[in-house]
Amino acid sequence: MSLESSTSPGDAFAALGNEVRISILRAVADAVEEQGDGLRFKAIYDRVDVDSTSQLSYHLTKLEGAFLRKSDEEYALTQAGNRVVRAVRSGAYDERPTFESTTIEGDCPSCGVTTLSVAYRDSLLTVACASCESNVVTYDLPPAAGEGRTTTELLHSCNRRAHHEYGTALQGTCATCGGKTTVDVREPEQRAGYTCVAACDQCGLQLFAPLEVRLFYHPAVVAFYWERGEDVSNVPLWRLLSYIGDWTVSASGDGGLPCEVTVVCDGDELQTTVGEDLDVTVA
Ligand SMILES: [Zn+2]
Ligand SMILES: [Zn+2]
Repeated sequence: MSLESSTSPGDAFAALGNEVRISILRAVADAVEEQGDGLRFKAIYDRVDVDSTSQLSYHLTKLEGAFLRKSDEEYALTQAGNRVVRAVRSGAYDERPTFESTTIEGDCPSCGVTTLSVAYRDSLLTVACASCESNVVTYDLPPAAGEGRTTTELLHSCNRRAHHEYGTALQGTCATCGGKTTVDVREPEQRAGYTCVAACDQCGLQLFAPLEVRLFYHPAVVAFYWERGEDVSNVPLWRLLSYIGDWTVSASGDGGLPCEVTVVCDGDELQTTVGEDLDVTVA
C-alpha cells in the first residue's frame, strides 16, 4: 500500500499559516463537541473575527479538502483538521514547558553513581549523571505534559509515553504518525550491550534502547516479575540497571542475533531467546 495525497505538505502548511484559519478550525471543533454538528457559513462568520463574508469565503476555500469538508452546507473537520486543533490546544506550537531542574535516584550505566539530575534541555527532558555528565535517558516533553503534574509525576508520565511509543515501534508501527517502522539491532561496542533502534520510514522518528528493554514487553517476562511482586509494565528507564544488571546476554557464534537472555529476579532465572526479528521465545 502506498500513500496518495491530494494536498502537498507545503500547501497544507501554507494553508495553516494564518490566525483566522486556525480560529475557523477551532470554532468548528468546538461546535462539533458542543452540539454534535458541523457549522454553516453564517455560524462560522458569527464566531470568528473576520472583516467580511468574502474574506471568510476565501479562508474557507484554503482549508477545504485537507482540513475541512463540506456537506449539506455544513463544515466539519477532516482527520488532519482534527489533529491540527488538538496540537494547537495542547500548546505544541506556541508554548514551552516549564521545568525546575531536580535530582533523582537512579543508575548511571557509565560510572555507577546513583544520583542523577533531571533538567529540560534543547526541547527534551534529560536525565543525566550528576557526576560524569553522560545522558542516561532523554524524553520528548510536550508542553501539555507539565500541566497539573509534580516533577516526579511528570517524569513517570514521560516514561510511560516512551514505553508506549517504543513498544509500538518495535512491533512495526510508529505511535506518532502510524507509519511503518524498521527495527535494527546494533551489536555491542566495547562494554555496552546490544541496542535496538526503531525508526519510522514515514516521519523519521528514531527511538532506541538496550535490547533487554524488548523483554519487558513480553507477557512471560511481565508475569515472571509479577509473580515475584513487581510490576514491570513501565520500568523507569533511569533505573534500568537495577532491573537488568544481573541479567546475562550471550550471543550465538558470530556475535549477532539470535541471542540468549537470562532474566533474573530475586535470584530466580527465566531463560529467553531473542530472535533475528526480535521475536522472543521462553524456555
Ligand atoms: Zn555517570
Ligand atoms: Zn512516524
